[in-house]
Amino acid sequence: MMAKELYEGRLKIYGGWREIGGNCVVVEDGDRKIVFDNGIRFQVLKRVYGGRITPLGPLEMQRLGVIPDAEVYEDADALYISHGHLDHVGLLYEVPHDVKIVVPSKRIFDATIFEWYGNSNTWLSYVKPRGYAEVVDAEELREDEHGVVAVPVSHSAYPAYAYIYQGRDFVLFYSGDLRLEPLSRGLVKGLEESLQRLGIDRVDVAVLEGTNFSRGVENFPITAGVFRELMTSALSQYELVAVSIDPLDLEMFHAVVELSKISGREVVVASERLLWAVEELGERDASAVALLSEMGAVAATRYVSLEELLRDGGGYVVVAEPVALLEMLRKLRLWRGEVDLVGSLAVLTDPEPKEAVREVEEEVVARWLSMFGFQIYRLRLSGHYHPQNFSELVRILNPKELVPIHTEDPAYMVKLLKKVREKISR
Ligand SMILES: [Zn+2]
Repeated sequence: MMAKELYEGRLKIYGGWREIGGNCVVVEDGDRKIVFDNGIRFQVLKRVYGGRITPLGPLEMQRLGVIPDAEVYEDADALYISHGHLDHVGLLYEVPHDVKIVVPSKRIFDATIFEWYGNSNTWLSYVKPRGYAEVVDAEELREDEHGVVAVPVSHSAYPAYAYIYQGRDFVLFYSGDLRLEPLSRGLVKGLEESLQRLGIDRVDVAVLEGTNFSRGVENFPITAGVFRELMTSALSQYELVAVSIDPLDLEMFHAVVELSKISGREVVVASERLLWAVEELGERDASAVALLSEMGAVAATRYVSLEELLRDGGGYVVVAEPVALLEMLRKLRLWRGEVDLVGSLAVLTDPEPKEAVREVEEEVVARWLSMFGFQIYRLRLSGHYHPQNFSELVRILNPKELVPIHTEDPAYMVKLLKKVREKISR
C-alpha cells in the first residue's frame, strides 16, 4: 500500500486520505516512529466483501488494503488508538509484539469491543490483541515517554482522545474523531480548556478529521442542542419512550439519563452491551438506572419488568439496542397475543453510516416497531464537528499547516482555512 507522504516525509498517511474511515497516520521524527490509529477501511471492505464472500483472514485484508500494511509497524515504538470505533481500532491482533498498544481505556475496551468481538468466529475476532501484547492506558494531559499527550475529546464513542505529539522541532495535533459541542458536559472536558492547561496555543501541523465536509450526505446530522431539544419535548409528550443507543456511546447514554431524570422518568436498560455503561455511570454518581428484569443480568439495584413498562409507559425510558428490544416485544406478543404500544415513541439514533459494521437492518427494525404501534423518530447525531464549527477549531489550534483526513472533501477544508485566516488577521 502506498502511503501519502507529507511534511518532508515526517508524516505518512496510510489510511484516511480522501476517505472516511481507516485512519492510519505514521509520524517519523529522528529515531522515533509512532503510529496513530490502525483503522479498517470500511469503504474498501464493502467493495470486496459481502454476503458469503468474507475475508480469508488478516493477510488477505492487508493485501487488499482493507487494513494497514505490515510496514507501518516496522521499528515503530507505539500505536495510539484514539477511540473504540473499528475504523480506528482495526485488527490489533496483527500488531507485532514489540509495538506498545496505547488505548483510551483498557478496562472499557476489555468490557466492550474486545469482549464483543474476541470470541467471534469471523474476522472480527482479530480486533482483540494477542494475549501477550503490551496494552496500556493513554496518559490524559500528560506527556508520555514518546512525547505524546492524550487530549480528551467529545465523540460518539467513549472515551475518545485526540493526541498531541511534541516533536524535536514541531508540534503535531492528531484529531482522531471529535465534535466541539459535547453532548454531555459532565463527562468530557472542552478541547480549548485542555489545550490551555497544557499551555499550547498553536500547533505546527494539525491532522484534522473532516467527516462532515462530505458530498452525498442524504440526511445532515443534527447538533447536540437540537438532540436535547427534541428529546425533551418527546419525553413530555409520549407514553413509553424507547431509545436505541450505540453501545459505545456513553455520552449519549449519560445525556438520555439526565434528560429522563429532569422529566421525571426512570431509565430502564434492556441491552447486555450497555451494562458497562451502567457500571461506569454508577461509579460517577449514585443515580444508578434500573435494568429490565427479563434480561437476566446480574448486579442491579433495581429491576423493572416488561409488564410494568407496558402498564405505566409514561414513567419510563427504555434504552436498548433495537434488536434486543424487538426480541423481547416479539416474545411477549407470542405469549400474550397482542401488545399495544400506540402512543409510544421509538427514537432510533443512527450511528455514523460509513464507519462501522452494520449489524442491524434499520428498515426492518423500524417496520417491526411500527407494527407494535410505536411512532418513530430517526435522529442522526454526529460524533463529528459541523462545518460551521471549523473556524472555532482553527482558532483553538492555530495550525501552521493543515492536513485534512477522514473526509471526502479536503479541498473545501483547505479553502475554508484560508478564509478563516484572512478573517482572523483582519
Ligand atoms: Zn469514530
